[in-house]
Amino acid sequence: MRYLHIFDPWNFPLCTCPRKYSVDPYTGCEHRCIYCYITSYIKEPWHVRPKKDFLRYFERDLRNAKILPISMSNSSDPYPRIEKNLRITRGALFLMKRYGFPALILTKSDLVTRDTDILSSMPSVVSITITTINEDLAKKLEPMAPPPEKRLRAIEKLKSSEIRVAVRIDPIIPGINDNFKEIELLVKELADIGVDQIISSTYKAKPDNFKRVAGVFKDNAEYLRKIYYEENEMVRGIRYAPRELRYRILKNMRDLSTRYGIPFSVCREGLNLNTAKTCDASHLLY
Ligand code: SF4
Repeated sequence: MRYLHIFDPWNFPLCTCPRKYSVDPYTGCEHRCIYCYITSYIKEPWHVRPKKDFLRYFERDLRNAKILPISMSNSSDPYPRIEKNLRITRGALFLMKRYGFPALILTKSDLVTRDTDILSSMPSVVSITITTINEDLAKKLEPMAPPPEKRLRAIEKLKSSEIRVAVRIDPIIPGINDNFKEIELLVKELADIGVDQIISSTYKAKPDNFKRVAGVFKDNAEYLRKIYYEENEMVRGIRYAPRELRYRILKNMRDLSTRYGIPFSVCREGLNLNTAKTCDASHLLY
């Protein structure tokens, strides 16, 4: 059993992440985001279960690994509700600190603020995803995730504990959450809180997530079908929106972030729009 893996072992051509590991203390994710891609490769994707003997095997993996940042998590959320009692992610952080591995946390949960003590005592960056500040829209996109307001308050708390925070406005689904008036309100609030980086990308369609997105946003389904199934770009079998459309959306995001003084990067887009040193905020670790 091996739980620590090199991130992106398939060398996706548009991934610009510096070398790092990836680890998931849990399998499955309860947030049920309609755009989620884990449903294409994880059985019972919405059922969260801890990995068997996770901390024991994780410690063994750390003892034998070269020091690199560890991204937690990329196919689940490291802070599902059961983490409150199980404290497996918290245990993983203590091990990472003991063995000298910096932590890149990716979450939509405000439970991450429970661990400010350990996170502020080791090299760490927390990335929190907020796809919209419109509560009704968030409920449609991420039915079981904590509401955007809770995530904003979590960011505030992390920043007040001097923890580096990146915010992922990601994915942006054309016609759904690309209202720039609303996005500007979010970016302004992030600037007021003092977040260190904004990371954005556009939605990528896979058959199962497209079915959910088109099912929830019926009025947008035809437009989305056109841009993802007719005018689309294919990258290693993944359906991207047309390049000009993605460029327009993400350039707006870059310009908005720059106007509010926040470094910006795109994730897996193949577009030269970054103003931040790394696409995954890992430069903030040092
Ligand atoms: S938080 Fe991530 S892994 Fe969990 S359901 Fe949403 S997109 Fe999927």
